[in-house]
Amino acid sequence: MTGSGRGAEFELIERIRVRVSTRADVLLGIGDDAALLRVPEGHDLAVATDTLNAGVHFPHDTIPSAIGWKALAVNLSDLAAMGARPAWCTLSLSLPHADEAWLDGFVDGFLQLAAQHGVALVGGDTTRGPLSVCVTAHGLVQHGGGLRRDAAREGDDIWVTGTLGDAAAALAQLQAGGVADPALRARLDLPEPRVAFGVALAPLAHACIDVSDGLLQDLGHVCRASGVGAEVDVDRLPASPALAARSSGDTLRGEQACGGDDYELCFTAPPDAAGAIAAAAKATGTAATRIGRIVDTPGVAAVRADGGTWTPPRSGYAHFA
Ligand code: ADP
Ligand code: MG
Repeated sequence: MTGSGRGAEFELIERIRVRVSTRADVLLGIGDDAALLRVPEGHDLAVATDTLNAGVHFPHDTIPSAIGWKALAVNLSDLAAMGARPAWCTLSLSLPHADEAWLDGFVDGFLQLAAQHGVALVGGDTTRGPLSVCVTAHGLVQHGGGLRRDAAREGDDIWVTGTLGDAAAALAQLQAGGVADPALRARLDLPEPRVAFGVALAPLAHACIDVSDGLLQDLGHVCRASGVGAEVDVDRLPASPALAARSSGDTLRGEQACGGDDYELCFTAPPDAAGAIAAAAKATGTAATRIGRIVDTPGVAAVRADGGTWTPPRSGYAHFA
């Protein structure tokens, strides 16, 4: 913030600072020019950044605590997709006004999720401007043990966690001018990053990505990076009860295979890892479903239950399309 706004800026920062918890590996947190963090011996640092803009990444009517939750959740989801255990984060806030009630609600949601995963908020930036939130999250993986996009191999099973399509269905309801089903809206507003499962997956999976822009599009990134292709059984994609009650046929396929904002993990693994993956899923309370296989023909094909190929109406979310 500029001019007299700096006093308000310091007050906002102080409102955040007094609420954060720390960790033993934070040598210096909020209050200096930079944080000092200790990376333990034998580990690599995984770093992810994601920005949330009002009206693009969350509907304008989203409550502040949900914006705070989601801003951190999407970043923890990226770390989970690397098999990294989250440790620290920073928060850059652009706010239209120095609105303390809004900030308190935002910080409620943000710190609730941070506490669940033992993540310390160690710094950030606070400025005046259109509502926008940028979080950087730092996590730790065993040296050389990060899960990458470029490691899928022909013959791998393709898996996905949780269920797909709820957030896309909620968004479709909102865009049609209606009110979203609360169960679907909760998936849009409060995604649950698959942190514990991602960590458990690190020694088991070949390649992994988090599904943020649509399953087929995100799986396409894995295939291109790995020099392979994929066949997805589009009628075997896991659906929540709320979605199954509402959508069917091509609408359901589109929401599940092409919708955004799922924040589930899509990963590939050799078939002989299936038992260990099922055990890791059970141990972390995460559903994991086999949805297809990696093939050597490039591209991502969606196969219907009747054996025919399903052609998506659109591939996924692209900001500059
Ligand atoms: P500088 O001018 O050195 O960038 P700032 O006045 O922007 O310092 O920030 C002061 C301290 O507060 C820094 O340690 C910074 O990391 C922290 N900080 C600023 N904004 C936030 C925020 N939104 N969340 C957490 N920490 C913040
Ligand atoms: Mg600053």
